[in-house]
Amino acid sequence: MKFQAIKGVRDILPPESALWTRVEQTAHKVFGTFGFGEIRLPIFEPTNLFVRAVGGETDIVSKEMYTMPDQETAHIYGLQHSLVEWKIKSGDLQTAEAFQQLTVSLLVFIMQAQQENLIELEEVGLDAVNDLTTAAKELHDLISNRSDSAEALIWNQVAELVERIRLASGTLIVGDDLSLRPEATASVCRAYIEHGMQTLPGNVKLYYMGPMFRRERPQKGRYRQFYQIGAEVLGTSDAPGIDAEVIEMLMSFFERLKLKGAVLNINSIGDKNCRPAYVEKLRAELQKVRELLGADSQRRIETNPLRVLDSKLENEQGIIEKLPRIAEHLCADCRAHYDEVKRQLGLRGIAYQENWRLVRGLDYYMRTTFEITAPGLGSQNAVCGGGRYDGLVELLGGPAATKGIGFAIGTDRLVLSLQEAGEGETQGGPAGKAGGPDVYLAWFGAAAQSAAIGLARRLRDAGFVVELPAVEMKFGKSLGLADRLKALHAVIVGDNELAAGVFTVKRLSDGTQQKLAEAELFSYLRAARTA
Ligand code: AMP
Repeated sequence: MKFQAIKGVRDILPPESALWTRVEQTAHKVFGTFGFGEIRLPIFEPTNLFVRAVGGETDIVSKEMYTMPDQETAHIYGLQHSLVEWKIKSGDLQTAEAFQQLTVSLLVFIMQAQQENLIELEEVGLDAVNDLTTAAKELHDLISNRSDSAEALIWNQVAELVERIRLASGTLIVGDDLSLRPEATASVCRAYIEHGMQTLPGNVKLYYMGPMFRRERPQKGRYRQFYQIGAEVLGTSDAPGIDAEVIEMLMSFFERLKLKGAVLNINSIGDKNCRPAYVEKLRAELQKVRELLGADSQRRIETNPLRVLDSKLENEQGIIEKLPRIAEHLCADCRAHYDEVKRQLGLRGIAYQENWRLVRGLDYYMRTTFEITAPGLGSQNAVCGGGRYDGLVELLGGPAATKGIGFAIGTDRLVLSLQEAGEGETQGGPAGKAGGPDVYLAWFGAAAQSAAIGLARRLRDAGFVVELPAVEMKFGKSLGLADRLKALHAVIVGDNELAAGVFTVKRLSDGTQQKLAEAELFSYLRAARTA
């Protein structure tokens, strides 16, 4: 049997992984200098956290989450979802009977789990359990008491009961439904509340890095397990200087990595005072051009008109350009906030483009939004998205006055863009970009092996990358391997060297060879490394 990584996920191998390490270390350094501390978050959370924070109606939550039942109640969860999903053909009483029996099994398992203290009936939903019990009994009576001639007559009642059971099953909450995180802002806010961080002095500044999971259609720069490096500032202040400093930190990070051609787009999407009126206006205008729009945009007129502005469809661009713009509908407070963010960016010498079509589809996002694009990424050219979300902590049950702003960088895309620009690593080790190990330590004979082990340890302690063959090899084969590994030097230890108290060092680029005592060998290798 041959195993392969599942669709949309991938391995990150050396030497690319060395570039990832450099990117992450740079983030630790740069974010640290801005006073941010690292938060390490769980990779899974209760599904409801994301339903709440990201929104149950978003694509991310409704279609793309990897959700699973908590193990102890997995059997109940399985039954519950079988009932919800089960399709019964009209008039098929036999299947309806099986459906009824499954309902009884579900109820038995729920009672059992309650006795074992795995679940509380109140949390599962007392009304739903009662409803299931009566509906299952009625269904049983109806089916078992039927006479052959009356089958057609009772079907309507059966269908009604089946539907009732299905609805009630759907509302049961059996244990925690878990999901792999599709993003991390929700977790940061959850942690902020859980640990009472609002009592800490000043703004709470946190950053994170790690994998996120979304069941999206895979393509270049879009994966099902992808990585983000993100940061959040939480506290009672929404001063525009915070927005500007968060953006400054991002740009410093990209600059430190030598990411070229990054473009910062900014916008303000107003707040709950001014955005609703704008959204209504937008919706009204969209209604007028409805027939000219694609199916997605048509649907969004009702569900989320702002998202229409995101559209990349060629034939919608002309229409969108003529739509009303949020900048003309900001209230005085939001306008002043936005103007000040721009002034503060100016103070920091940060270039930006205003992009009125840059929106966030979620209600709690407000005012500042920003996105950074980078070259070399094709259509998936956003390396970072961010914005202000002053209502989110409150939505999750935290202090109402809490404000927040943050961003998430797509690490996969950042790495891709660096590689496209020739800023990628060519080797996995820490020895720089020159090639393989500093030293290939060829030894011949048992006594030489013991000397080589000692020398390897001292060389590694001094920071050299050393390849030490695990078994003895013939001279030609050993030096051949050194070449293939692209080692810079072969250091040879045999009986002659042991007797003379020296090492033979051969520079593999040109074959020059000399015998050196250990101290000289170290100086020689050090000089070679800085050359
Ligand atoms: P979002 O959390 O959707 O605002 O995304 C923030 C950033 O994460 C984006 O700008 C992308 O760089 C990156 N990103 C989002 N989804 C994916 C994905 N499926 N694969 C790779 N990167 C992604």
